[in-house]
This record gives sequence, structure tokens and C-alpha cells, in this order.
Amino acid sequence: MSVLEVKGLSGGYGKTPIIWEVSMEAKVGQVVSIVGPNGAGKSTFMKSLFGITDVTGGEVVLDGQNVKGLPSFRLARAGMAYVPQVDNIFTTMTIKENLEMGGYSNRRGLAQRVEVVLEIFPDLKAAQNRKGGELSGGQRNMLGMARALMADPKVLLLDEPTAGLSPIYVDVVWDQVGRIAKTGTAIVVIEQNVDRAISNSEWVYVLVAGRNRLDGPASQVAALD
Ligand code: ADP
Ligand code: ADP
Repeated sequence: MSVLEVKGLSGGYGKTPIIWEVSMEAKVGQVVSIVGPNGAGKSTFMKSLFGITDVTGGEVVLDGQNVKGLPSFRLARAGMAYVPQVDNIFTTMTIKENLEMGGYSNRRGLAQRVEVVLEIFPDLKAAQNRKGGELSGGQRNMLGMARALMADPKVLLLDEPTAGLSPIYVDVVWDQVGRIAKTGTAIVVIEQNVDRAISNSEWVYVLVAGRNRLDGPASQVAALD
């Protein structure tokens, strides 16, 4: 079942269109990658899904509900979470305290939710009392994802979670993405490196100049690469 369906989405910043009739879908528990050259509009597309940029046309259906044009806080309530490329974790708070800030609506269940999320992130669990400012780049990126997961989203949008990481951390972060998907959350992830996208996702979408160029199962896109 597609938990996210995007049909013909167009938009950009103010009156300047950046993406044109972009379509994609993600099914329950799937990892779907978006690749394409720099400036292709990958980040803009993701921001437009999360209500940050201006949408001029198209449809966004989240778990059967039409959510196009909703502001971010309403999208979050409907089950979408977004982790921007620039991390905004709290450096003076511990991992655990950062997770407690993660937008879980049921205050009484908060401590329990933190434990559930830490189970999905073994590296963070092992370091749960360390402060945000003491973490490696890879751990910070994972903390950003973990905090987004606190809200138990149906769809998790990740804007290049491996950007700027050394190769060893890139693999750790991708393993982590796979672990999240296994819990049933659908993940849409931007990745610069096509080979990495192919080896770590089920479906790959290629965006060029703000438009869908091609998409397919990772094996098929690998054959075209
Ligand atoms: P359902 O959508 O009913 O759960 P499937 O998961 O078998 O059925 O997928 C139906 C079709 O969608 C198949 O042709 C499959 O190749 C294709 N598909 C699977 N994932 C994606 C995706 N992320 N984007 C586009 N098409 C996809
Ligand atoms: P990608 O993520 O594929 O590298 P982006 O979505 O970041 O591409 O950028 C697509 C285009 O949108 C670029 O031409 C970029 O200059 C433009 N752009 C990005 N952010 C803004 C902004 N805040 N205001 C205006 N234009 C922007």
C-alpha cells in the first residue's frame, strides 16, 4: 500500500517555479531514494512535501488523506516527519533529552517512547547520556532522525543524511535508515551518490532540472546507470 502518493507536484520559492509536475510514491516500510545533479530541485521537492515552499499544483496524499498545502505542523500531525540537511539538535542536552523534545504528543508515555526509539538506534542507546555537542557527525544525523521518529510518523523525509560524513559513517547511517524502515515507516531520502542510493533503497527516483527523469526498482536503475 502506498502511504505517500505525490502526483504532478509543482512549486518553488515565491513566483519562481523550481519543480515541475513531480510524481512519486512510497509504500509502507519502503526506502525510496531521490537522486539527481546538484540544483535539480531535490531539496525543494522535499520541502514542498513538508509545506515549507510554495506549491502551485499537484496532489500529495498521505495515508489516504489529501495534505497538499497544509502547514508543517498539520503535516506532522497527519504523520509526516522531515529532517533537514542542517541539523538542529540541542548541543547542551543529552541524547535522551533531545529525544524528549521530539514532539511526542502523549506526555505520560514520553519516557516509554524514548526507550522504544532508542531500541531502533543502538548507537544512540549506547551513548544516551552524552550531550549533543559531544557527538560525531554521524551520531548527530542519527539523533536528528531519532528525534523525528519520536512522533511515530508514517513517512519520514530525510534530506541527505549522509552529506559530509566519512565513508564509515555513511554505511552506519544507511544501516540505520534500513532499521527504521523495518519498523514500517516509509522513508524518502535524498542521496547525492547514485550507487549508494541503488544499494540501499527499493525504488530510485531521478530528478533532473526539476522534473522526473526516470524511476524504477534499484536493480533497474542500476542497469541504466
Ligand atoms: P501494492 O501497491 O498493491 O502494495 P506492490 O507493492 O506490489 O503493490 O506494487 C505495485 C506496483 O508498484 C508494482 O508494479 C511495483 O513495481 C510498483 N512500485 C513499488 N514501489 C514503488 C515506488 N516506490 N514507486 C513507484 N512504483 C512502485
Ligand atoms: P538540489 O537539492 O537538487 O541540489 P535544490 O532544491 O537545493 O536542489 O535547488 C534547486 C534550485 O532552487 C536551485 O536553482 C537553487 O538555487 C534554488 N533555490 C534553493 N533554495 C532557494 C531559496 N530559498 N530561494 C530561492 N531559490 C532557491
